[in-house]
Amino acid sequence: MGSGANARFEAIREVNRRTPRKFDPPRDEQGKPLRVSEFYGVNTFDLHKMKEQLPKEVYTKLVQTIDMGKKLDREIANTVAHAIKEWALTRSVTHFCHWFQPQTGATAEKHDAFLSFDDHNRPIEAFSGSQLIQSEPDASSFPSGGMRTTFEARGYTAWDPSSPVFIMEHTNGRTLCIPSVFISYHGDALDEKTALLRSIDVLSHKACELLGLIGDTGVKRVVPTLGVEQEYFLIDRSFFNLRPDLVMTVRTLIGGQPPKGQQLEDHYFGSIPARAQAFMAEMEYELYKTGVPVKTRHNEVAPSQFESAPIFEEANIATDHNQLLMEVLRKVALRHNFSVLLHEKPFEGINGSGKHNNWSMSITGSGPDLDGDNLLDPGKTPHQNLRFLLVLAGVMKGVHTHAGLLRASIASAGNDHRLGANEAPPAIISIFLGDMLNRILDEIEKGTTQEQNPEAAVLKLGVSKLPEVMKDNADRNRTSPFAFTGNKFEFRAVGSSASTAFPVTILNAAAADGFTEIIESLKARLTASNTIESAVLEVVKEAILGTHPIRFEGNNYSEDWVKEAERRGIPNLRKTPEALAELIKPESKAMLAKMMIFTEAELASRYHVRTERYVKNLLIEIDTLCSMVETQILPAAYAYHGMLASAVLNCKSLGTTAPQADVLSRLGGLISSLQTKRVVLEASLHKIEALSSEEEKAVLLAHEVTSAMSDVRQVCDELESIVADDYWPLPKYREMLFLS
Ligand code: ADP
Ligand code: MG
Repeated sequence: MGSGANARFEAIREVNRRTPRKFDPPRDEQGKPLRVSEFYGVNTFDLHKMKEQLPKEVYTKLVQTIDMGKKLDREIANTVAHAIKEWALTRSVTHFCHWFQPQTGATAEKHDAFLSFDDHNRPIEAFSGSQLIQSEPDASSFPSGGMRTTFEARGYTAWDPSSPVFIMEHTNGRTLCIPSVFISYHGDALDEKTALLRSIDVLSHKACELLGLIGDTGVKRVVPTLGVEQEYFLIDRSFFNLRPDLVMTVRTLIGGQPPKGQQLEDHYFGSIPARAQAFMAEMEYELYKTGVPVKTRHNEVAPSQFESAPIFEEANIATDHNQLLMEVLRKVALRHNFSVLLHEKPFEGINGSGKHNNWSMSITGSGPDLDGDNLLDPGKTPHQNLRFLLVLAGVMKGVHTHAGLLRASIASAGNDHRLGANEAPPAIISIFLGDMLNRILDEIEKGTTQEQNPEAAVLKLGVSKLPEVMKDNADRNRTSPFAFTGNKFEFRAVGSSASTAFPVTILNAAAADGFTEIIESLKARLTASNTIESAVLEVVKEAILGTHPIRFEGNNYSEDWVKEAERRGIPNLRKTPEALAELIKPESKAMLAKMMIFTEAELASRYHVRTERYVKNLLIEIDTLCSMVETQILPAAYAYHGMLASAVLNCKSLGTTAPQADVLSRLGGLISSLQTKRVVLEASLHKIEALSSEEEKAVLLAHEVTSAMSDVRQVCDELESIVADDYWPLPKYREMLFLS
């Protein structure tokens, strides 16, 4: 047997021996497992705990701070910090950290012990208000896109009180995490959260102004809501560890198609495999403790692919919770001998993974009568119907104007494999509204509703019946990147490994900009002779007329749509470099700066960080691929070639015909083809190294080098199909996807 495959076969044996891992759920004194509601949020210092532990006036101030999206008042910080520390100590916490989201897509934390010394030099646990509010990580190595040069490397993190502090449990010990923003000393946003929070404020401000114009004057704050469906793959650790590509890039750079992929459509919503189910239960248990409301779990379309979705929350908390979910997925997977793959396209020819961002806007901080009202819910009363149409019009306008920016917000090397690959929404941003809503908009456009009483006319159109209709029927377009689903939009094009912060920031900004336009035209129409209702309908009509190009109900995967989109003049930005270029267009800069979401410098930094990350990711992939070819694929092919060659020689010396001769010559051909293609790939790498700007590198990588990578891969995959199985060192698709 060829020795290359020994480790692979051992991995298969290991996987066959695995059993679902049991974990002990928390129990009451009688030993009965606790209900989820009995331990949900034990590791979170939420509003209920604050109310219990804080003096009334401090609690009231804190809630006002949170409701109004403001910074914490220093005067109450010490009291809040003390209460948090006392609570944390009862839960055996020893350290605290500011938990923040630099522009790496992941989170960052630096732990400090509560340990301190009192005036008599006795050890105590201490945690001050200023430690709660602010910390100064030595942060010069975080990406800043040139915004912060090393000689002014200082930045600081500041608690975002709207996201509650929580405890992270480790194998040995517990840490108090303080969700924070990360800012330079000049006030520039160095992270993902600052701009998200700014965008939430702007959207709220604009939405309140808009609602005020139609008589909803009691609304004080509107927040975007977000429910994030997270797709992921689970692969056995033993297989994962044998694949340098998975270890280095979370994507298989080589791998022949298995005879069975997902064509039998037997995995989606199928019964969850026992080991995966055991994993999910433990993962959800960890999340419940931290107050992450995970609700739905199921098999996804591809073999070994799954989804977890929470109950939606305010967008900044949902963003934190999605980061936590990704971390917990990774950690708990290891306990179950799985590796979780959050990459957008870990397996060629098999569905990739997305992160569907379900998004809407909800009234909050405005009293019990209004709080919780969803602005994208058509509502039951004529007034709510009209409000819904107006809000919808604003969102449509925003998405139409900023389609390119929205595309940029989801651009990454991983997502390039998904978008437009006949499985995920394409790189063209369009809006799907569904039959019924389309009919209503058509009626408004034709003017059939311009009756004496426009509110009654709208009701007649059946807007209020929309939620029921949308919930009940199959009027869902899963090919659309931005689909209306009854009372929210689903931004489906976001990649599975991405932070939701940037896409949601841009979406909030686009909607706020749409609202700004709507506000202007509504103000102009609110004249003495016009009622609010007819003015609203006129504005809605105008928005409908102006946003036709962005509306598409058909199959987004079809070639026809690509041509149609081109005719309509809406952007089709296939690859990351051209998508990212949208970030530095004058109109993007102007819009985001005007809204005070990103300064020009901050936006330029996003562009640079993302371009750089794209280049780095691809260079790592190429390096990994070259080394796999050199140290694994070619050696396996040579060994098998050697074995065949000596068998052929043997036959010849015996004077018999050699049945292996054909394979030997095909193999020889593939080997020399692989050698040639590897040289081409390496040459293009040298070309990249010679370039000075990251932009040029990115463009060359996207358009030339990725195809040289595919050429190398294609030969490797052919080799996999003819090299004897016991010579092949890499776990195969059929093993990774169907055995774990
Ligand atoms: P599907 O897979 O059918 O699209 P899921 O139940 O998996 O639906 O996910 C729907 C997501 O949308 C959930 O996270 C849910 O909480 C979220 N959602 C529902 N209503 C809203 C809303 N008003 N705002 C934001 N998200 C919402
Ligand atoms: Mg779902």
